[in-house]
Amino acid sequence: MNLTDKIFHDLDAAREHLEAFRWPEGPYCPHCGNADLRNRYRMEGKSHRAGLYQCNELREPFNQ
Ligand SMILES: [Zn+2]
Repeated sequence: MNLTDKIFHDLDAAREHLEAFRWPEGPYCPHCGNADLRNRYRMEGKSHRAGLYQCNELREPFNQ
């Protein structure tokens, strides 16, 4: 394990690393399996968590 790897220092890189591991085919809704996602919220303001998605079917936000 390389502790100088950027995933240990960059939260965005770390999250993308986890997403790629969890969703090798791309993100989908954990509730209904829908892959048609409305949004992917980024760190823009403090009202949304980073890496937040919203399902187009359920209109239910979820994280990875
Ligand atoms: Zn859904």
